[in-house]
Amino acid sequence: MTPVAPSPTAALAGSVLRPLWLDSPERPEPRPPVGPADDGLVVGLVVVGGGFTGLWTAVRAKERDPDSDVLLLEGDRIAEHATGRNGGFCEASLTHGEANGRERWPEEYDELDRLGLENLDEIESTLARYGIDCGFDRSGVLAVATRPHEVAGLEPEVAGFLDAEAVRRVVDSPTYLAGRVSRDECATLDPARLAWGLARVAERLGVRIAEATPVERVREHHDHVLVTTPHAEIRAGQVVLATNVFRPLLRRLRLSIVPVYDYVLATEPLTPEQIAALRWTDRVGVSDSGNQFHYYRLTPDDRILWGGYDAIYHYGRSVETSHEDRDRTYATLSEHFFETFPQLAGVRFTHRWAGVIDTCTRFCAFYGITRGRRIAYATGFTGLGVGASRFGANVMLDLLTGESTARTRTRMVREKPLPFPPEPLAWAGVQLTRWSLAREDATGRRNLWLRMLDRLGLGFDS
Ligand SMILES: Cc1cc2nc3c(=O)[nH]c(=O)nc-3n(C[C@H](O)[C@H](O)[C@H](O)COP(=O)(O)OP(=O)(O)OC[C@H]3O[C@@H](n4cnc5c(N)ncnc54)[C@H](O)[C@@H]3O)c2cc1C
Repeated sequence: MTPVAPSPTAALAGSVLRPLWLDSPERPEPRPPVGPADDGLVVGLVVVGGGFTGLWTAVRAKERDPDSDVLLLEGDRIAEHATGRNGGFCEASLTHGEANGRERWPEEYDELDRLGLENLDEIESTLARYGIDCGFDRSGVLAVATRPHEVAGLEPEVAGFLDAEAVRRVVDSPTYLAGRVSRDECATLDPARLAWGLARVAERLGVRIAEATPVERVREHHDHVLVTTPHAEIRAGQVVLATNVFRPLLRRLRLSIVPVYDYVLATEPLTPEQIAALRWTDRVGVSDSGNQFHYYRLTPDDRILWGGYDAIYHYGRSVETSHEDRDRTYATLSEHFFETFPQLAGVRFTHRWAGVIDTCTRFCAFYGITRGRRIAYATGFTGLGVGASRFGANVMLDLLTGESTARTRTRMVREKPLPFPPEPLAWAGVQLTRWSLAREDATGRRNLWLRMLDRLGLGFDS
């Protein structure tokens, strides 16, 4: 008897609202928090935030200066937020793609491209050096066009362009009209295993990590920074803020980013026959070309992770656990999944989850140093921080030591993005932009509003 294909909604019926990557027996027990006995502790460098940005900072700080003493404070659990919830595309790009980088920094784009590839190479060699097993696979990324007006963006005249027939030999979907693979510029990995591995390495190098320790305040005091936590005040020589989308500890950053919710599904593990039906023989990640794009990939245990499309902003820069369960978005994602891969009718989703992205108006991270060179920050990764967070960590350490490096000499590192407006303008602007982007996806035409934002160098992305 042929199994009855469940509807896109029915395919979600047995799924749990939990990030696939964190739903693992490998998840380490939380480290103890900072307690009253730590009050008055003096530390060289305090890193606030235990996602990729904070973890890379801690590891790089010890690699660059083995004598430094480093304390990492995570308010929740290591990798609990964007770091443990993402698609696991570890891209070389530091600029949220080539088009955005070339548009903003045309004269230095080649150097930014070189720095990005160097950063990805160094991530790969770090994993090998410390034996971090996170399923790192540098098969690259396949960009596909699913609407006629998207084909031109894949540059049919440039070598490497794949027409409909050729792209369907790489991954087979009846929706594909064209494609292009970038082999060396992207790896896929299991982000939680990477983060847990980095935490273990940091500790082996001598870093102390405390979880469940939210930093309430940082303020300059004589020749150090007072870092206030619920049970202890710590005296830090220097501080790195790696708090991503969460309420910035520096007032000046409050308008610079907006939180955007991104949603993801994961299927049950596929059989070799199901994967063969997709001709998905290597681990290339896939991304389609619309403004509202999907990203998808095979996981190390042969599931398909399927995310993107809706990017939801909640009024007042609201970040709440309740925003994570959005039936409408999960149903849309499921529907698009089965349109893309009708061969998989009958497959079920086991996990659905959301995470928050730190969107800024230039779509890629910005960096800074303040309070007499004692506090450095990096934020605004806009949905592409798995690889770029390590670059951001290095930039912050460069800034704290005052070193002039190839990184800090770039205009990209020296410049800051324009802030978003306060409410209600932020909400109205984001809604109008989302509506305009969806129309462009449908029609291929950029309306007046988007053209005006282009001229101002502003935008909204995920
Ligand atoms: C659904 C989703 C899919 C994505 N997919 C991709 C992808 O495929 N590829 C890619 O490159 N990027 C992707 N991203 C983006 C990427 O995950 C992030 O850019 C990256 O993980 C950011 O790391 P982070 O350390 O800066 O932030 P986070 O992981 O958010 O870590 C910040 C940490 O700081 C802690 N914190 C905040 N405030 C305080 C405080 N006051 N005191 C103590 N701790 C504090 C938080 O608890 C948190 O753990 C995605 C993001 C999401 C949400």
